[in-house]
Amino acid sequence: MTEIWKFHATKLGEIFAKEQKITSLPVDPIEIAEKLDILVEPLPADKRGVSGMLMESNNNFGIMYATYVDNIGFQNFCIAHELGHYSIAGHYEQLMGNGFHESSAGFVSNEKYELEADHFAAGLLMPSFLFDAELNKHQSGLNAVESLSRQCNTSLTATAIRYAQKTPDPVAIVVSEGEIIDYCFMSDELKELNRLTWIRQGSRLSKNTVTFRFNSAPQNISNCNKADGETTLLDWFGSSLPYVVYEEVVGLGGYGKTLTVLSLEPIPDQESLDEEDELEESWTPRFKR
Ligand SMILES: [Zn+2]
Repeated sequence: MTEIWKFHATKLGEIFAKEQKITSLPVDPIEIAEKLDILVEPLPADKRGVSGMLMESNNNFGIMYATYVDNIGFQNFCIAHELGHYSIAGHYEQLMGNGFHESSAGFVSNEKYELEADHFAAGLLMPSFLFDAELNKHQSGLNAVESLSRQCNTSLTATAIRYAQKTPDPVAIVVSEGEIIDYCFMSDELKELNRLTWIRQGSRLSKNTVTFRFNSAPQNISNCNKADGETTLLDWFGSSLPYVVYEEVVGLGGYGKTLTVLSLEPIPDQESLDEEDELEESWTPRFKR
């Protein structure tokens, strides 16, 4: 289960989408901002280090968003993140003391207000009431993430995170740079598996993974190359459970990072395990009940 406050922030984004009378994908955060009389402007492309800004003067609000990553999906996410600060109770009071706030959107900050705004942005741009039906139309894996990203006009990473949150399948998505893992999101179904060591932020990639080999050639990332192959739960989650892990990897271009989608062969549900249990006396249960 996602931590409650993150879940709550996502929910606030979805409620905001409903309030703004969003009825179809993609959600356009600039259009929403304009309806709220918030001025939206791009930052110069050489301005790095911030993903966006929220500004206020005499109750007039403005949003600026980063353009150093040449990706509409990322820019949409940055704007939606600022709408989160604008909308979530308490953010204005906490963050706008100087009349402006500089952000690091995209699940890269450890600060709670930043992460709340990120989850809000995911909920706003990919609200369950529109996203789930689309998700159901797709197969598992990177293909699904790419299709949904095109439909929602969202970055691959933001879409992948939402995919991991909503899919009924046992999957994980990992964002890495070089040998280091930035973050990992696991689906609820995968979290159900016992004896997995959850991936920590800042941990190292196993040398046996497709991602490790992929990241050792920097042009793979800048050229948005792809790779795939089979790995093991041991290499990713320190578990010797006998499941095949299918690993799909894509370079994220100017973002400088790599997205990995890990899909397990379907995990049998408890009922079918029980049935097998009855058939085979020597069966040792591998799952918590
Ligand atoms: Zn922020």
